[in-house]
Amino acid sequence: MTKKYDAIICGGSLAGSAAGFSLARQGFRVAILDRAEFPRKKLCGGLLTWKSVKLLKHLFGETPDSLADIDAINHTSDRYAIHSFSGLLTKGLMPYSFHFVDRKIFDQHLLYKAQNAGADIFQNMQITSSDPMHGVVTCTSGDTFSGRFIIGADGANSVVRRSFPHIDRERMRKFMAPTIEIHLDKNQFPRPIDDPELYIGFMEAGYGWVFPNRDKIIVGICGLKHKNANFSSLFKNFLNFLDIKSQNSSDFQGHPLPYGNYLETPTHGVTLLAGDAGGLVEPLFGEGIFFALCSGMYAGESVAHGLATNTDPIPLYTQRLHQQIIPELKGADRLRWLLFRSVKLFGPRTLRWFVNAANSPLAEMVHGMRSYSLLRKKHWDF
Ligand SMILES: Cc1cc2nc3c(=O)[nH]c(=O)nc-3n(C[C@H](O)[C@H](O)[C@H](O)COP(=O)(O)OP(=O)(O)OC[C@H]3O[C@@H](n4cnc5c(N)ncnc54)[C@H](O)[C@@H]3O)c2cc1C
Repeated sequence: MTKKYDAIICGGSLAGSAAGFSLARQGFRVAILDRAEFPRKKLCGGLLTWKSVKLLKHLFGETPDSLADIDAINHTSDRYAIHSFSGLLTKGLMPYSFHFVDRKIFDQHLLYKAQNAGADIFQNMQITSSDPMHGVVTCTSGDTFSGRFIIGADGANSVVRRSFPHIDRERMRKFMAPTIEIHLDKNQFPRPIDDPELYIGFMEAGYGWVFPNRDKIIVGICGLKHKNANFSSLFKNFLNFLDIKSQNSSDFQGHPLPYGNYLETPTHGVTLLAGDAGGLVEPLFGEGIFFALCSGMYAGESVAHGLATNTDPIPLYTQRLHQQIIPELKGADRLRWLLFRSVKLFGPRTLRWFVNAANSPLAEMVHGMRSYSLLRKKHWDF
């Protein structure tokens, strides 16, 4: 039997929870479908910037303190360091702290917020196909869901996106970056570390990171595949450089990260894509948490407006994306090519020069206080 809703949300992670919460709190009938059972593991560094904190407060009423109370945030730092093969390039103080979330707890908490607002949650519900024109979603269980609108929030390998005819699949594939991450106990890392560290020069068009948490250290790399042939051996080299011993390749975990393949019109028929499903990740540092929450909220609010006024939500969604999100992704994309090419031509020290010369504006861009587009002060619409 087909279950009928105002909106079907495919994926119950950040974009899905933000969309579901936005719709359900306005009284619309929403189903959120996810193949996983929460809490579930999600590969991620978990770094939150200022704009994510601002959005979490605006949308969910959450603060760093309320998230720390439930252990969703478990580390905070207002410093950073950037290294290359030859040592420390630069380090500094940020205008606002970075917060680090445990995605297992964070994602479940936001999903339950959507549920408490009235959304129906279907876990262990794997979507196999969706009809973007007629709002029908089918699942491996044999269940079928129909809605006046679908929001595809099912991540980088989105099944919903596959049903879109107009996607440039070659560009999508080319700029889908592999990542590898491991989570270490603090005592497995060779030295004490309290602040996030980035590592450049180990690969082309990519970077490595070491993010401290309260009880663990997250070490990872991401970069464009067509520029970096053997990802696993690059990661081993990185671990060796960090002096991290005895890690088996079987402990390495990978997940694709949209890295410059954002869709400018992530919509088709009655379907809107949000978060990684639409490639909406900042292509310099790979920040996706904020963009998933923000695009999920925009998608949910646009559909709510369309349902309330019996109008097409797609123009409103597209307008908000193009006013707020797309200029940031484009600006970060331009900056990354400038930096990656400069590092390739002139070596990692170029980055030290750049970061030292543009320290304060760059830090404000990372946090979203200043726009990647033309360096203006950023005015978010929330
Ligand atoms: C290694 C790594 C490190 C990262 N570090 C950071 C960081 O430090 N800071 C940051 O801001 N961003 C980071 N990101 C990016 C960030 O994790 C993503 O951008 C963000 O999780 C996107 O959220 P989302 O809701 O769009 O998709 P996801 O979080 O990927 O969620 C998609 C959901 O859809 C479900 N799903 C998928 N397919 C189906 C299906 N067929 N049927 C039903 N359900 C389905 C999944 O179970 C999942 O719950 C990192 C990413 C990676 C890979």
